[in-house]
Amino acid sequence: MIVLQAFRFALDPTTAQEGGLRSHCGAQRYAYNWGLALIKANLDQRRAEASYGIAGVDLTPPVAWSPYSLRRDWNQAKEAVAPWWSENSKEAYSSGLANLATALKNWNASKTGKRKGTRVRFPTFKGKRTALSCRFTTGAFGLAEGDRRHVKLPRIGLVRTHESTRKLARHVDRGTARIRSATVTYRGGRWFCSFSVEIDRRDPAPGRPDSVVGVDLGIKSLAVLSTGEVIANPRHLDVALRDLRRLGRQAARRIGPDRRTRQAPSGRWRKTQARIARLHTAVANARRDGLHKLSTRLVRTHGVIVLEDLHVAGMIRNRRLARHIAGVGMGELRRQITYKSGWASSRVHLADRWYPSSKTCSACGAVKAKLRLSERTFHCDQCGYALDRDLNAARNLAALVDEVTVGMSSPSCGATQNEPDGNPRKTRTTRAPGTATGRPSHKARSTPHREMAAHDTVSTAS
Ligand SMILES: [Zn+2]
Repeated sequence: MIVLQAFRFALDPTTAQEGGLRSHCGAQRYAYNWGLALIKANLDQRRAEASYGIAGVDLTPPVAWSPYSLRRDWNQAKEAVAPWWSENSKEAYSSGLANLATALKNWNASKTGKRKGTRVRFPTFKGKRTALSCRFTTGAFGLAEGDRRHVKLPRIGLVRTHESTRKLARHVDRGTARIRSATVTYRGGRWFCSFSVEIDRRDPAPGRPDSVVGVDLGIKSLAVLSTGEVIANPRHLDVALRDLRRLGRQAARRIGPDRRTRQAPSGRWRKTQARIARLHTAVANARRDGLHKLSTRLVRTHGVIVLEDLHVAGMIRNRRLARHIAGVGMGELRRQITYKSGWASSRVHLADRWYPSSKTCSACGAVKAKLRLSERTFHCDQCGYALDRDLNAARNLAALVDEVTVGMSSPSCGATQNEPDGNPRKTRTTRAPGTATGRPSHKARSTPHREMAAHDTVSTAS
């Protein structure tokens, strides 16, 4: 299967090379700002003319903002506005103009309603402190031949990597990967080179293709699986917070920048800021590593993974929970599982956003009207079933997908203990109207004990 994948390597450039990288990123920013000024002046001119009553053919013609026409305009103007342009690869300027074209396109699409989501504002000028980045799409870039410790970049040459490029080099040698572009970035005190690669991935199929796993994401534990497995929340950020607070105090004692008095920050203040940035990077790296390991394991084990369609962006607006939710990386985990499931040919099922996975009894299907966040154990009022809150939710999620593993348990356990009195469907009256739209399928719901038994067999067998 051909997929688009990024391979990112930390770089160890020499001082001269670092100067070259900075220069290219600066050139990217310069071209972006130049193009933005051009477009902005044109739009303002046209708006002003329209306000005077000039219309139609008398208006100043619009400046096109496709990457192609921006590049053409830049090539005509560069000799005059940037006589030093030949110091950098032309790709640097193209990169800035391409970014500008995308920004303008997104703004226009958002304005005309073609783009969903939060409103995209008109692009702003990039200041000195914006993140350094530059993209190469043509020219001599890629991995160094015959050695797995260097990347090749236009103009800059061979740059040593901090880690081996083996993972990508093997694919390139075998001819199963094609590098499409290279982006250099400066993040958290370190240079990176990220390759966008068209790669032929042949991932192993999930070990248990018939297995359905429900994953309840949370804060107390990172995830609870319907198999009963609990993945602890490593709380990387909470651990680092102590050091971050200390560094914050340290920075406060040093002379930082002040816009009113035009005070430049001291070297010591900058050092503390660099330490803070490094710590944040370490936290993010540790978190990402854990999430990658978990998501890979899930898609390589289970045939179907059932997740909640959580509104993470909305949950982060809750200021009491924001730090903890961001610290877990729920949205990132879902993103990883979704794209990796495509590689491993496992399937992801997203439960409806309003499906009450926590409030539903995984034994009888009764839905509670209210369940406090502090109640860690689920007690069913209908059948008296008691279970860990998150495990109950995970089992409900797994039950949303028609169970394929039913055959694994003997049918006799279908109706043994804990059958609710009367018609189990009657319990639906306890569901708050308009809140529950997704629900376990009738089949899954009518045989809850069989499913649980299936889960139990699975967990004991493994
Ligand atoms: Zn129940």
